[in-house]
Amino acid sequence: MNAEIIAVGSELLLGQIVNTNARFLSENLAGLGINVFYHTVVGDNPDRLKTAIEIAENRSKIIIFTGGLGPTKDDLTKETIARHLGKKLVFDDTALASIEQYFNRVNRVMTENNRKQALVLEDSDVLPNDFGMAPGMVLEQGGHIYMLLPGPPKEMEPMFLHYGSQALALKTGVKEKIVSRVLRFFGIGEAALETEIMDLIDAQSNPTIAPLAGDGEVTLRLTAKHTDEKMALSMLDEIENKINHRVGEFLYGYDHDSLPEVLMKLLKKRNLTITAAESLTGGLFQQEVTAIPGASSIFNGGVVCYSNEVKHQVVKVKHETLDTYGAVSEQCAIELAENISNIFGTDIGISFTGVAGPDELEGKPAGTVYIGIAIAGRPTMAEKLSINGSREAIRTRAVKYGCYYLMKHLKESQD
Ligand code: ATP
Repeated sequence: MNAEIIAVGSELLLGQIVNTNARFLSENLAGLGINVFYHTVVGDNPDRLKTAIEIAENRSKIIIFTGGLGPTKDDLTKETIARHLGKKLVFDDTALASIEQYFNRVNRVMTENNRKQALVLEDSDVLPNDFGMAPGMVLEQGGHIYMLLPGPPKEMEPMFLHYGSQALALKTGVKEKIVSRVLRFFGIGEAALETEIMDLIDAQSNPTIAPLAGDGEVTLRLTAKHTDEKMALSMLDEIENKINHRVGEFLYGYDHDSLPEVLMKLLKKRNLTITAAESLTGGLFQQEVTAIPGASSIFNGGVVCYSNEVKHQVVKVKHETLDTYGAVSEQCAIELAENISNIFGTDIGISFTGVAGPDELEGKPAGTVYIGIAIAGRPTMAEKLSINGSREAIRTRAVKYGCYYLMKHLKESQD
């Protein structure tokens, strides 16, 4: 069973938006046991869309469209498909009623082109839009399944998850359940991780193990198939245990977890407060922390101490330390972490000082980073890193390393 995703929208071709719909659908279709062989992007042009449909029909059984279902003139997806398949467009009463209700509720006049959104392909199954106006649809014809979904991800994603996937499972008769789990690792490179589990990767068939590296992290996507979903899940548990046994110390989370999120959960669980003194990261750590809802229970504030004056005047790093060892030093990182935690009265202080590049600083190359970690009741320490990459990569990875080392030290302090 193979599928092709056709994303319709000139904004995609102009590079104004990223085709996240294709990524979302591919991931979810894999979960249904449907292979996606092609992604196509086509502008808001009926002739080119027709050509894209013809090409897709020659190579794919399932064709999923996103975008172009809206009320404006350039929204031409369903009109083009209707013409191509020789189908009429008919009003869907439920969709029309919900559009009318919406306009009554907001007390606005409904224009004719808004009504147009309730038009669906005759003989299609309508997929309700719980978060917008244009309904989706599924139609089977000539050995193909056509599915039309709206462009906005906040409408498309729930529509696919709640209605579209079920419609596909019914129409394709796929019985096997496919379950996936992503294991997220940090502090180990892709090559080293693969070497540790090479025999498991070589022997894989069901479950499969797919490694992926990016942004300093390595992930393993485990995928198992079984007619019984519980069995598929226990197959995942079994392979995860084996992997954990070998490289578990680097496993920090699952699926969409991020290092700052996992760190925050750990701090909340242990009832610990934190603050930060950031030089090269310029507040990036604090930005990550405050991006997480509920951060205020563990974080009150911190300091960006980019210059030596601020390191001394605000965070009270001794002149002697800065003159003797420099700002990019273990000693400075330790004083920053310890002092900031005293100033803010928190259980933990973390500091970031280093060379973001591209030029060297104090005779130290770009990528040299010291992370100071002060945990109440324990000796303060600093971790030294040499990070490769651009200025941006050095700064973002420094923050990830900070989260990773802090979690590691917190776990050790409990053992
Ligand atoms: P609308 O009623 O909003 O017009 P539509 O179904 O006609 O919905 P489009 O007009 O094609 O969809 O796109 C609307 C918006 O949805 C785009 O501006 C963009 O923000 C988002 N969008 C469209 N296609 C994609 C895509 N493939 N990936 C991510 N976002 C998309």
